[in-house]
Amino acid sequence: MPFRPYIHDLVGIVLLVTGLLLVYLGAIPLWVVISVILFYSLFLLFVSTNVRFNYFVRSFNHRKGISERKIALSFDDGPVENTLKVLEILDKYEVKAGFFCIGSNIEKHPEIFREIIRRGHVVGNHTYSHTRMLGFLSSKAVTADILKCNEVAERTASVKMKLFRPPFGIVNPKIKRALEATGHHSIGWNIRSFDAIFNSKDLILNRITRKINPGDVILLHDNMLHTPEILEQLLLFLQKNRYKAVRPDNLFEIDAYS
Ligand SMILES: [Zn+2]
Repeated sequence: MPFRPYIHDLVGIVLLVTGLLLVYLGAIPLWVVISVILFYSLFLLFVSTNVRFNYFVRSFNHRKGISERKIALSFDDGPVENTLKVLEILDKYEVKAGFFCIGSNIEKHPEIFREIIRRGHVVGNHTYSHTRMLGFLSSKAVTADILKCNEVAERTASVKMKLFRPPFGIVNPKIKRALEATGHHSIGWNIRSFDAIFNSKDLILNRITRKINPGDVILLHDNMLHTPEILEQLLLFLQKNRYKAVRPDNLFEIDAYS
C-alpha cells in the first residue's frame, strides 16, 4: 500500500513547526503555540467522535427537506435475545426499521439475525468486534473488522450488507479510508436517545419526542432491556402525531445490499 499521509496530521505538523519557528524568532510566546496545538487536537477529537458533523466521513444522518412525515428507526448492538421483544413491538404497530448488527452477536444468535430479515427489516454492519479501541485502529484493521462482519452476515443469511453504522459514532480519517475500501454507506443519526446510558424511560422518551422532525433518524439499542417499552411509547407518539416510521434505506432511497 503506498504511503498516504493524513492531511490533518500534515496541518498539525505545519502549525507546530511554524509556531516553534516564531517562538525561536521571538515573535510569539511558547504558550500561544501550546494553546493552538491543544485547541487543534480537541477540535479533531470532537469532529472524529460526532457523526452528525460529517467532517471526515459523509454519513446519512437525516433527510433534509422531506415533505412527508417520515422518520427512520435504527437499533444498534444486536442481535441478542432482547431483539425478539423489539421485533414483536414493531410487528404490533406494523413498522419496519434498521438493525445494525455486531458480527460476533450474529454468530451467537444466527436465528435471530435471520428473523430480523424475515420480518422485513433491514440489517447493516456494525463491525465484527465493536471494540472500544476502534478510534485507535489502523484503517487496515478497521477494514478487516467491517469485512468480517459482512462475511458472517453473508454466511448466516445470504445478505451482502452495504449499510454501516459507526460504533460509538466514531468517524475518523482511518474509518473514512476503510469505508472507501469496503464501499459501505455510513448511516448516522440526528436523534440519540441515550437509551444505553440513562435509566429513566421518561427521560429517554422525552429526549426523542421533544425534538422530532420529518426526515430524522433515531438511534436506539435493541440490547437494552428497557428499549422495548420505550419503543412502544415512541410508536404510540408517532401514531398520534401522524409520523410514519420507515427503514433507513427507504428514508434515504439507497440500496441496503449489493
Ligand atoms: Zn454500537
